[in-house]
Amino acid sequence: MPQRKPTYDSTNVERFMTGLIRRAPHEPEFHQSVREVAEVIIPHIRKNDRITNAIVFERMTEPERVFMFRIIWEDDNGNVRLNRGYRVQFNNALGPYKGGLRFHPSVNISILKFLGFEQTFKNALTGLPLGAAKGGSDFNPRGKSDKEVLRFCKSFMLELFRHIGPNLDVPAGDIGVGEREIGYLFGQYKRITGEFASGVLTGKGLTFGGSLIRREATGYGAAYFAEEMLNAVNDGLKDKTCAVSGSGNVALYCAQKIIQLGGRVVTMSDSDGFIYDKEGIDEKKLARIIELKSARMRIREYVKHYKKASYHAGKRPWGAPAFAAFPCATQNEIDIEDAKRLLKNKCRLVVEGANMPTTIGAYKLLRDKVIFAPAKAANAGGVAISGLEMSQNSLRLSWSEDEMEERLRDIMISIHKQCVTHGKQGKKPVDYVVGANIAGFLRVSDAMLAHGV
Ligand code: GLU
Repeated sequence: MPQRKPTYDSTNVERFMTGLIRRAPHEPEFHQSVREVAEVIIPHIRKNDRITNAIVFERMTEPERVFMFRIIWEDDNGNVRLNRGYRVQFNNALGPYKGGLRFHPSVNISILKFLGFEQTFKNALTGLPLGAAKGGSDFNPRGKSDKEVLRFCKSFMLELFRHIGPNLDVPAGDIGVGEREIGYLFGQYKRITGEFASGVLTGKGLTFGGSLIRREATGYGAAYFAEEMLNAVNDGLKDKTCAVSGSGNVALYCAQKIIQLGGRVVTMSDSDGFIYDKEGIDEKKLARIIELKSARMRIREYVKHYKKASYHAGKRPWGAPAFAAFPCATQNEIDIEDAKRLLKNKCRLVVEGANMPTTIGAYKLLRDKVIFAPAKAANAGGVAISGLEMSQNSLRLSWSEDEMEERLRDIMISIHKQCVTHGKQGKKPVDYVVGANIAGFLRVSDAMLAHGV
């Protein structure tokens, strides 16, 4: 058999990372997400010749395809505007490429590769036939009129349509892309192709193929996952003080489910600052926040309605005393200093609602001191319901709200079980990061090996 010195080295984390950084320089977020997984997977597969000879892990860190395109649109004043669009198709071993679109000025190839890479493991954990992708644009929806967003979405789809399809690649929302944008994108896909292909996008409105619970799914799933983790140590969210960051769909519905499970949510935030309500944000107050947010207002408005609450401009909520932290805003929103603050206040549980909200340094500080749920397990509820939206679209049927919520809960319980199976070593507490990475990896690598080279 011909032998060659491998270009890739999947037996040593540092050599692996050196190779990856050489092939993809200037992509710090992507390096960060791969390193976190490599530190778990490489020791696990080192002696498995079948996996290392087929360079399965290396292949998983290289997107199968990357599209990068120019988007030209006109703003309300008639100025011609230019943005960049992307779709990163990461892995289709388990099913059609699947993952959200992010519209945010920070979007670049590094961020989309990190998100697409994470999506591979997350989608595998759901147990559904979903591959992995991510996409989006550096377009900033903040302050844009409805018509500007529509014009932008039309131009974006004018290029994207040729790369997606119900059996090929199924985008959905992410930061900056919600039901409004998905509606506009769907309308444009239909205009261009002349087909009503409901399975081409998920997160759609309920009148044209959307699924009940999709909007709530990521947040509800994260709260269910937290409840499962606490149940495993004979506890629960009831009466626990929880700090939640963000005020998008993930944060809002995570807070809602925490409240329904008896927990006390004391913070919410946006990129300008956070609100702290010591008495707790109850269902009524949360309904007010949902109203504010659907009117596209800022979180600071909250303190105008609830005088006892305080607003902290330019700060993140991790200094607020809380038993549990639910980072549900964006990547790297808990750094080392934030982790120290959480520990000082005796935080015992960290549940990642957003994708990679914890820096590696912060995670290393937290991991032995708190129960830590990584995003790929804790926030998989969103894409899981997207997967079930695809099932309903194929059946041309829609399932009831109760049925959807039950399925969501079952999927979160099953992800929790997989984490326990692969993350429990001896008498030590379950390591959810190890469990999620190994369980996700094994499912994808099994399919990749079955497909041959
Ligand atoms: N953007 C979400 C995520 O990070 C959802 C993706 C989807 O529904 O396809 O998982």
